[in-house]
Amino acid sequence: MIPTILPTYNRAPLTFTSGEGSWLIEADGRRFLDLGAGIAVNSLGHAHPDLIAALTTQAQALWHTSNLYHIPAQQKLADALVEHTFADTVFFTNSGTEACELAVKMARKYWYDKGEDRTEIITFSGSFHGRSAAGIAAAGSEKMTKGFGPLLPGFTHLEFGDHDALRAAVTDKTAAVLIEPVQGEGGIRPVPDHCLKGLRDLCDQHGSLLILDEVQCGMGRTGKLFAHEWAGIAPDIMMVAKGIGGGFPLGAVLATENAASGMTAGTHGSTYGGNPLACAVGARVMEIIADEAFLADVNRKAGHFRQKLEGLVASHPDIFEDVRGVGLMLGLQCKVPNTDVVNAGYQAEVLTVPAAGNVVRLLPALTITETEIDTAVARLDTAAQRLKGDNA
Ligand SMILES: *Cc1c(COP(=O)(O)O)cnc(C)c1O
Repeated sequence: MIPTILPTYNRAPLTFTSGEGSWLIEADGRRFLDLGAGIAVNSLGHAHPDLIAALTTQAQALWHTSNLYHIPAQQKLADALVEHTFADTVFFTNSGTEACELAVKMARKYWYDKGEDRTEIITFSGSFHGRSAAGIAAAGSEKMTKGFGPLLPGFTHLEFGDHDALRAAVTDKTAAVLIEPVQGEGGIRPVPDHCLKGLRDLCDQHGSLLILDEVQCGMGRTGKLFAHEWAGIAPDIMMVAKGIGGGFPLGAVLATENAASGMTAGTHGSTYGGNPLACAVGARVMEIIADEAFLADVNRKAGHFRQKLEGLVASHPDIFEDVRGVGLMLGLQCKVPNTDVVNAGYQAEVLTVPAAGNVVRLLPALTITETEIDTAVARLDTAAQRLKGDNA
């Protein structure tokens, strides 16, 4: 018999009843150190007092009005995002997937309004852009698309890191190139800064729009507010979600005035996008993360975490291959199946997330402390020792 919850997830035998900062707690009191943070969602940890205050204050005043009316919290968050990024304008969604939908529509509408037949969008192997029709067509992997055809046409998929293929593929017919500055689901694969710069130049040569998917790598995760800032470039359109809501469903598309020029009144909309509750929380998340001292602290802790993880890899060369990633978006390349490492972590009361390429993802709350990082690595060490025992 089919479960009452559609069985599209293989769930771990864990049930959490509360959370505090970097900790998730089961009903029996067992405390797990959370290095998944809802897959880079709980950017400020669980039950952050400022976010609880922002949410409850808004909840007592007003939950929802339509986008037919002005929403002050939405305006405040949009202004903050524009102030701190390349963007001139923002549209709010409820998820990363919806941000992908709009990014694709925006790029195509841009060229349509210019009277040019440019619909092709170039994407890369290992990418993840959500589970909607546009999202799976953009990623193009068999795992995500099989059985769901006919797929939305107009996507060209290139091998991640194949510069020659990229140079050949981007032409005066290319509407846009869509890429994650650091692939998340694909296994914590950063695009090197010089490659992102080269891609920006290539797009400029052909007038193509550059769309960055910073749903996972954005909002302070890499130690800059947005990952592309490390390369000193700016996109035309950017998708954001996950960490921006600190655990409340919220996404956004940020764009330049030029790239957004086709999106006039009536061309797009969302019932819940930009609702007062989500934006009240998002505005507070933004105030906390878009702060130099906060980001400097993320970078300091990231350096500490990375050093500790290098030590972990060195002491378990039969379990781990290496550490990769940027800031607090880290991955352990494994020699044993990554799911074995994740499961051994459950035993040791530390939560990690598997990714493609046999990688275990470490995406802690940006508020994790150095002491908690040390505890996390000690628990990962316990997990690795257990696996060694199993393999002996
Ligand atoms: C999670 C993710 C998405 C999809 O976001 P949802 O909120 O799950 O719809 C898109 N792109 C990237 C890079 C992601 O990590």
